[in-house]
Amino acid sequence: MSDVKVPFVDLKQRYHEEKAELLACVERVLESGQFILGADVDELERRVAKFTGAKHCVALNSGTDALMLGLWTAGVGRGDEVITTPITFVATSAAIAHLGAIPVYVDVDEDQNIDVTKIEQKITPRTKAIMPVHWTGRIADMGAILDIAQRHGLKVVEDSAQSMGAYWHGKHGGTFGIAGAISCHPLKNFNAVGDGGLLLTGDDGIAEKVRLYRNHGLARRDYCVEWGINSRLDALHAAVLLMRLDRLSSVIERRRRNVELYRSLVKAPQCRLPQCKQHEINSFVMFISQSDDRDRLQAFLRDRGIESLVYYGTPIHLHPAAAKLGYKRGDFPVAEGQADRVLALPHHQHLTGAQIEYVAQSINQFYGAS
Ligand SMILES: *Cc1c(COP(=O)(O)O)cnc(C)c1O
Repeated sequence: MSDVKVPFVDLKQRYHEEKAELLACVERVLESGQFILGADVDELERRVAKFTGAKHCVALNSGTDALMLGLWTAGVGRGDEVITTPITFVATSAAIAHLGAIPVYVDVDEDQNIDVTKIEQKITPRTKAIMPVHWTGRIADMGAILDIAQRHGLKVVEDSAQSMGAYWHGKHGGTFGIAGAISCHPLKNFNAVGDGGLLLTGDDGIAEKVRLYRNHGLARRDYCVEWGINSRLDALHAAVLLMRLDRLSSVIERRRRNVELYRSLVKAPQCRLPQCKQHEINSFVMFISQSDDRDRLQAFLRDRGIESLVYYGTPIHLHPAAAKLGYKRGDFPVAEGQADRVLALPHHQHLTGAQIEYVAQSINQFYGAS
């Protein structure tokens, strides 16, 4: 195997770029002696609320906790059905299942987001909520989803894990439904130096309930209103995220420029690159092509020192964890077809134009389109 010429991610490079600021965050938090909740977390919540236009932001341990608590505060519980998609990370379905609810899948559209024309046929008297996933940071068709939800009396809780900095008709991801979950995992655009998550909501009661629940249900140090959990964001992560919030737009801008460059350079029609509609601003947490002969393309790129990743090769309904739900291959032909073709290409903000040219040329060469 040749040396890596184009890495898929480069978190160390990010460290080197931000070294002085990151170490200043560490020093400041360690000096303060405030490691859990406190001023940095409060400030982060205020700033993220302002950035996204959400009325409230509650900082949590992970995006997964934000998904679960969003569903929980929306009233989803045992035996309820939640409509979602099989093209996502496993945590979407797990969050639903952990509340005793049942994920009900709807196939996706060409753009990998939920096909809104297929939602209504899945609604039953037990349906409680819709959880759209804004996959890669492209917002699902929220106009249609909110309309369906309103007509059927359903709650909308968004898996906006990848949507920090993503917009639909000028509105930020995670602010359409009753709650939205953002992930600050290191591989997202708005990333902590470990796990972290944010719940967005416009509902005062939900924000208050989640704030209480994330901190053991303690209204005061010695006064527990209800049993809670420990899902607090560490002050260190909050400090890093505050610093990175100012850089988020530039991170996304650089990723979007890289995507533009790919679009202009990849000539092979066998490698379909995601296109954006006028009203979408995709944050491009991932840049996922749909490529013929995917596995051989990936091997060809690997031989040329180019890293790529299959995101993901198994749609959620075909995982062993989903077996009890009773789905089978063939149930979601669009999602299953994509799973055989998806290949995420390196597009992160530290790449040079020359690296992207090299990847694009390699793709063209593989398909004989150079
Ligand atoms: C990352 C991600 C999650 C999980 O978020 P964590 O912060 O890792 O818990 C859930 N859903 C989607 C779509 C994600 O990309």
